[in-house]
Amino acid sequence: MDMVEKFRLTGRTAFITGGARGIGKAVAEGFASAGASVVIADVDIDEASKTAAALGSQYGVGTLATRTDVTSQESVNDLISAIDERFGRLDIAFCNAGICINEKAEDMTLEQWSRVIGINLTGVFITAQAAGRYMIAKGTRGSIINTASMSAHIVNVPQPQCAYNASKAGVIQLTKSLAVEWAPHGIRVNSISPGYIGTELVKASPTLIPLIKTWNDMAPMHRLGEPEELQSVTLYLASDASSFTTGSDVVVDGAFTCF
Ligand code: NDP
Repeated sequence: MDMVEKFRLTGRTAFITGGARGIGKAVAEGFASAGASVVIADVDIDEASKTAAALGSQYGVGTLATRTDVTSQESVNDLISAIDERFGRLDIAFCNAGICINEKAEDMTLEQWSRVIGINLTGVFITAQAAGRYMIAKGTRGSIINTASMSAHIVNVPQPQCAYNASKAGVIQLTKSLAVEWAPHGIRVNSISPGYIGTELVKASPTLIPLIKTWNDMAPMHRLGEPEELQSVTLYLASDASSFTTGSDVVVDGAFTCF
């Protein structure tokens, strides 16, 4: 097969949680540009609808926007039903929705801890499980991609974020567990670990904005990554180009975690 052909997603359907903006939006665009129908699943339905409409008109692919809360099994099951009704298939699941709360460990409330773990780790479990169940039932040799973080590998400084770091480390081990369990079904499960990326998660946070210069001083490439710089790695993991890649975590951080 032509190497470039292996990256094509024509005829496939992908959902992207947290797809309304930021990393999810950029990755959805990457999938759409490769020919996939894309389902933008986000708590922010207005923004999700705008993103889906823009991708549909730019790339001529099928699109759908759903109001999906990854912490709710009912909401995620509704997402799968909507995909089944509209497209009749699911090939790619990008379990990406996530939040960060910057709080000192000694001051973090159980509510804050549970919110971060609930979205970042349990939310990935709920969405990956729903995708896996559907793919197994349909006999689809699908690809599930989870968003971890470089924070799964290192402890960010100077900002405190123990729940976030723990949740992302959990995502990597969950990813490996699902990869092993679902390999017999032909379903591949991988994660990505981005370094600092210039999205609203960072740029709209009053706590984090003053730290961008500090991080850039620490970073070998002296800059944040752009969400679009995650398109090629996720296209690789979503497509047949990565047919022997499963249980892997791909770090994309401009060498931030190298020293
Ligand atoms: P953004 O905050 O820009 O986008 C996240 C999107 O997810 C928002 O649209 C948000 O909606 C939505 N969302 C939040 N909670 C839920 C939920 N419960 N169910 C469904 N959707 C939800 O974040 P990024 O694009 O920066 O981050 C995406 C992922 O990448 C996250 O998992 C993050 O941890 C990870 N990551 C980000 C890095 C960075 O530097 N930006 C670095 C490494 C990893 P709303 O705003 O309305 O709540």
